[in-house]
Amino acid sequence: MYLISACLAGINCKYNGRNNLEPKIVKLIEEKKAILVCPEQLGGLTTPRLPSEIIYDENGNRKVVNIEGKDLTKEFLKGAEETLKIAKLTGAKEAILKAKSPSCGKGKIYDGQFKKILVEGNGITTDLLEKYGIKVYTEEDDIENLK
Ligand code: SF4
Repeated sequence: MYLISACLAGINCKYNGRNNLEPKIVKLIEEKKAILVCPEQLGGLTTPRLPSEIIYDENGNRKVVNIEGKDLTKEFLKGAEETLKIAKLTGAKEAILKAKSPSCGKGKIYDGQFKKILVEGNGITTDLLEKYGIKVYTEEDDIENLK
C-alpha cells in the first residue's frame, strides 16, 4: 500500500486548483494499492490557495510562508501529522509524493524566494514520514516497477 500525493492522481488539490496527473502511478491506483492524501488540504488550507515555500529565519528555524509572507507553518505541520496518521491507520510503509512541493517534495525544494530556485531539502510531510520509517519516492524516481 502506498500513500500517494492526490494531485499526482489527477485530483485538483494543487494550490492553483489544478493537478499534476502522473501516468506512472495509474497502475498502483488500478490495483487498489494507493491511498491518496493532500497534506495541505489535510492541514486545513483551501483550494485554490496562494503558493507557499519553506524559509529559514535568522535563528535557523524552518517556517512555511505563502507568497504574501503569511506564516502557514502550523497548517503544514498539521497536514503532515494527519498524513502520518493515515499511514499508521492503513499500514502504508511507502509513499509516492510530488517532487519539489513544500509539503511533499523530497531531496529538492524551492528556496523560499518564489523564483523557482531549487535547494536541497524535503517538504514538511516528507520529513515527518521519513522520521517514522516510511520510504518516500517522488514521481521523478524510477517508480514504474513498484509493486
Ligand atoms: Fe499535491 Fe502534496 Fe501539494 Fe497536495 S500538498 S497539492 S498532494 S504536492
